[in-house]
Amino acid sequence: MKHDLNLHVLVFHITHLIHNIFFLNKVEAIKMLIGIDDTDSLRGGCTTYLAALLWERLHAVGLPRLIRLNPNIPYKTRGNGAVALNIKGNSEEIKEAVLKAVKKHAYLQDEKTNPGVVFIEALNRRNRKILNDFYRRAVSELVTIEEAEEIAKSIKAETHKFNNGRGIIGALAAVGADLPDKTYELIAYRTKGNYGKEKKIDRDSVFEMNEKTYPETFDNIDPETRQILITPKGYDPVFCGIRGNTAEVVERAFRLIKPMEKIERIQVFETNQGTDAHLRHKKISELKPYDCAILKGKITVNPQSIEGGHVLFGFSDNYGEIACAAYEPTGRFRDIVRRLNKGDKIMVCGGIGKYPNTLNLEKIQILKLERFYERTPPRCCGRRMTSAGKNKGFKCRRCGKRLGEEAAILREVPRKLKLGFYEVPPRARRHLSKPLIR
Ligand code: ATP
Repeated sequence: MKHDLNLHVLVFHITHLIHNIFFLNKVEAIKMLIGIDDTDSLRGGCTTYLAALLWERLHAVGLPRLIRLNPNIPYKTRGNGAVALNIKGNSEEIKEAVLKAVKKHAYLQDEKTNPGVVFIEALNRRNRKILNDFYRRAVSELVTIEEAEEIAKSIKAETHKFNNGRGIIGALAAVGADLPDKTYELIAYRTKGNYGKEKKIDRDSVFEMNEKTYPETFDNIDPETRQILITPKGYDPVFCGIRGNTAEVVERAFRLIKPMEKIERIQVFETNQGTDAHLRHKKISELKPYDCAILKGKITVNPQSIEGGHVLFGFSDNYGEIACAAYEPTGRFRDIVRRLNKGDKIMVCGGIGKYPNTLNLEKIQILKLERFYERTPPRCCGRRMTSAGKNKGFKCRRCGKRLGEEAAILREVPRKLKLGFYEVPPRARRHLSKPLIR
């Protein structure tokens, strides 16, 4: 099996090389930027798989891109991912091949699957900026199909919509993504007969791989629950995905794990995962539904645990007030949140989800802890004085001396928290969230 996997990595590189040589001699070199999104459904399919097939079949320049967009939007199937490819060749042939593949692989019978494909032949500086601004909104806010259509028109992008065609939002944004910080993901795909079946992998090999490659690879396992995170559940063709800082390290990591089923193909993607590309500094008064934000302010209502194990606190930045939530799946992160107190100065990162006035926490930075004091009675005749009644000061049981309330001794209550960053565990992390270790 091990031998098989090394062979896969080798075949992956050789196939691409042969395609490059073969196609370069045959085609007029038009460079086409292609964006594809929303071809999958919870019942199956996967836009990255489609991208991997096209990358192999067509003459691709560079790696395909897997671009995650706003994780809070309600239309997503899972991780709100779209793909972008840079293809050289004859423009009509490219379009035909891409559209044929989308029609073949997209789950068009599912009404929630709304594929969108965009073709862009040339991007001058102005249009690149327009498209990049659109990506920067789509990764962080909610945008509409109409806005996407306007952008496409203004930059002369050719769009193809299937069902309601919402996929053109992700398709355009994926092409427009700049990656000032980027990571890589190697995705290994299963053979068709195994779709939907339990994924079999040698657990120890994943932990060993993690030991050898972490933190250059990340989110392989969850240290708290010892869950393996590289093999997500689902009916789609993905067997596993390994994320890391370079293409080399994810390839090396893949050679270290031992899948116990046949791998059909592997593909490395350039991505914006683990980069915090979605977060923007905002004021509470500016927040719109589904926004992603970084807010700075103070805790106004002490953390409270509610039914289901979620922890919520009130937060204000002087421009408004909002609830911040650490949901049950965030595990021990909630223990940190519970120790926060009214008056603490913090920075919160997260997104507005289903509940409009609640920010779902991804990470926090504790900037300043409020000081709390305990009042204890002063001492007299070698022992503590006792209370003389509510707000009546203290009296000494031995000599009868009396002192006012102001004589109380203030002792600072130690806070069981340190300043700094705290994040949700890997199993609860958004694809876009930057792990602190990076
Ligand atoms: P997977 O992660 O398995 O690829 P998915 O979670 O990416 O699935 P999609 O099927 O791509 O889900 O559905 C997301 C839909 O939301 C797409 O149609 C996409 O164009 C659209 N979309 C993406 N970002 C935004 C946004 N910021 N505002 C509105 N719609 C968006």
